[in-house]
Amino acid sequence: MKIGFIGLGNMGAPMATNLAAAGHQVTGYDPVVECPDGVADAKSSVAAATDAEVVITMLPDGAILRSVADEILGAMSAGSVLLDCSTVDVESARIVAQQASDKGLLPLDAPVSGGVGGAEGGTLTFMVGGSAEAFEIANPLFDIMGQKAVHCGPSGNGQSAKICNNMILGATMIATCEAFALADKLGLERQAMFDVVSTSSGYSWTMNVYCPAPGVGPTSPADNGYKPGFAAELMLKDLRLSQQAAEAVDADTPIGRAACDLYGQFVENEDGRGKDFSAMLPRFEAKGRT
Ligand code: NAD
Repeated sequence: MKIGFIGLGNMGAPMATNLAAAGHQVTGYDPVVECPDGVADAKSSVAAATDAEVVITMLPDGAILRSVADEILGAMSAGSVLLDCSTVDVESARIVAQQASDKGLLPLDAPVSGGVGGAEGGTLTFMVGGSAEAFEIANPLFDIMGQKAVHCGPSGNGQSAKICNNMILGATMIATCEAFALADKLGLERQAMFDVVSTSSGYSWTMNVYCPAPGVGPTSPADNGYKPGFAAELMLKDLRLSQQAAEAVDADTPIGRAACDLYGQFVENEDGRGKDFSAMLPRFEAKGRT
């Protein structure tokens, strides 16, 4: 396939590289980052989008997605797919999808989970909103860049699935970290805490797979000085998107809001920026009840 790839940062570059390595003709554009090996340099987003059968965007946020869409939609061929893999607000995803559909294009919002390691290894999970027709066309690309793609319904539903998942993830990480910190203060060995919870009803992905306590459970960023992994500020971004969406549809999300406030505090006032989101554990350890 002829693919335009716009946004070649930490995630986009390895995704584009994997598509090129699989034999697709990939033309890329990023105003800051150079194209990786195997990806032709387009010099502009419009040049990357022109004549592509699929245009993939992997951008920082919804405002940038909307501005890139303004630039490229007119240059894309009718019937081609606009595949946005960025994590953005649901409203931006739906606005861009409507603009693309109005021009005879096939939009998909397909945010990912799996992080930079998943992008490099081609093991991402895609949560996809848009038409079945567009999903069919993009499916072989999901197979290359990822291990699973779930079609979640119409446009915006991929972003909805992503922020609901990450609202659970953020809240669960906080719950796991505060329980570890309490267990420490109660004199419970961390290994015993892990052995019990990981096989009891308190188990979770954050305990069993991504344990925030160094030295117990499988290897995780905690074993690497809390170097991300998944940075606390990216978790904060997703939690803010979840609360923005909850506001828009009048959904009561008290735990999600508390998680958002706590990550905001951690990132902005407590030196959490640049640390993995599991570094909530040393943060809780250092604090008392006030
Ligand atoms: P990044 O900041 O490394 O990459 C974004 C790239 O977009 C940058 O290289 C930037 O130069 C480029 N860009 C900015 N404005 C542009 C424009 N107008 N035209 C073209 N390119 C432009 O971010 P990332 O870590 O690659 O994340 C990309 C998206 O994936 C974000 O929405 C993020 O929330 C999401 N995501 C990231 C991770 C992760 O672990 N990094 C995991 C899941 C989802």
